Amino acid sequence: MMRSAIAMGVVTVVVATFSGRAEAGDRKSGPSLAAADQLGGINKGLSVAKKANDVRDLAMTDAEEQELGKLVSERIRTRYGVVQDAGVHRYIGLVGLALAQGSTRPALPWTFIVLDTDGVNAFAAPGGYVHITRGALALITNESELAGVLGHEIIHVTEKHTIRSIQKSKAVQMGAQETMSGNSALMQRAVTATYDNIVEKGFGRAEENESDEMGIALANKTGYAPNGLIGFLTTLKDRNKDSKEKRGLFASHPEMQERLDKIGKQITSQKLTASATLQPRFAKNISYKPVPVTSIATVDPGAAGLTGGGAKPEEKKEETKEAPKKSGFGLSRMMPTGGGEKKQASVTASGGARGVDPEKDSKGGSNPALVAVRMGPADVAAFKKEGGLS
Ligand SMILES: [Zn+2]
Repeated sequence: MMRSAIAMGVVTVVVATFSGRAEAGDRKSGPSLAAADQLGGINKGLSVAKKANDVRDLAMTDAEEQELGKLVSERIRTRYGVVQDAGVHRYIGLVGLALAQGSTRPALPWTFIVLDTDGVNAFAAPGGYVHITRGALALITNESELAGVLGHEIIHVTEKHTIRSIQKSKAVQMGAQETMSGNSALMQRAVTATYDNIVEKGFGRAEENESDEMGIALANKTGYAPNGLIGFLTTLKDRNKDSKEKRGLFASHPEMQERLDKIGKQITSQKLTASATLQPRFAKNISYKPVPVTSIATVDPGAAGLTGGGAKPEEKKEETKEAPKKSGFGLSRMMPTGGGEKKQASVTASGGARGVDPEKDSKGGSNPALVAVRMGPADVAAFKKEGGLS
């Protein structure tokens, strides 16, 4: 796995890693009571259930989850490129870490990555790798909206939504005696299924609702105005209001309004009253300009996920065998899953053309390297203090 072009091309850097409070919580002394409650169902799902035919659902340790996330992130970064700007990464990393500290898995090596594309998207890979596009940042107007988006993605990681989804779909199974460790063929199958799940398919409605609900609570707990996600989703809705297809986050789809209403109700019923929006700080750090959906340069959706420089030949072969992808809208993992129109895998066209989702099929940058920014607990504490966060 480490032989991939990307891994070799990059100095060993970790972006915005917070390795403060020991691995303690997660591994040794076990999660807190609250975390255990929330994770109970998942842990149960992860347990090795031997099947009659000696095949079991994908099971993995924390270390394997970490390795999987790293490889999936490489693939996402190869597809979209990384904005080579340390200042931007430092800022996004600080907001992300401030949130992640308050999550149920604070000790993960959280890594926040800004992808070099105009498409509006965010992707959470297992193990703590959170990606957000330049295009998404361009639509965000203040730090509480950013916290709303990152909080949502962080919950996809802490609740292990991807791994659960792969288990549920049986996209990857393993022999009863098999483990992932040292099994590169199995790991590659998992990487492909995970990438497909994150970038192409998106999560189911239950996972999206859970990420909304817990993500908003997390943002509020950190001191951010809890309606940040509403602000961002409303911008997205406006961005896509003229779309005839249910593209662009199902903008005209009733589910979007339902979703916004649900979030609003939660804020009221749970009395979430944090108030930091921090528009000036956001504006000082982020100055991207949004590109209209119809002006986004796109690439062949059939090839987009496959041509990553880091992909080895056998990976490509594996991917091309897959059935046509279900539609994934830009930020579809942030959206309720609706009908999911079919995508033609081999259409090459400009933004807005049939079969192309500009937000997802947007052209990306060419540099997949992580940007090295070192931050520790003291930096996060200072950042929170400066913003009046809790
Ligand atoms: Zn989501």
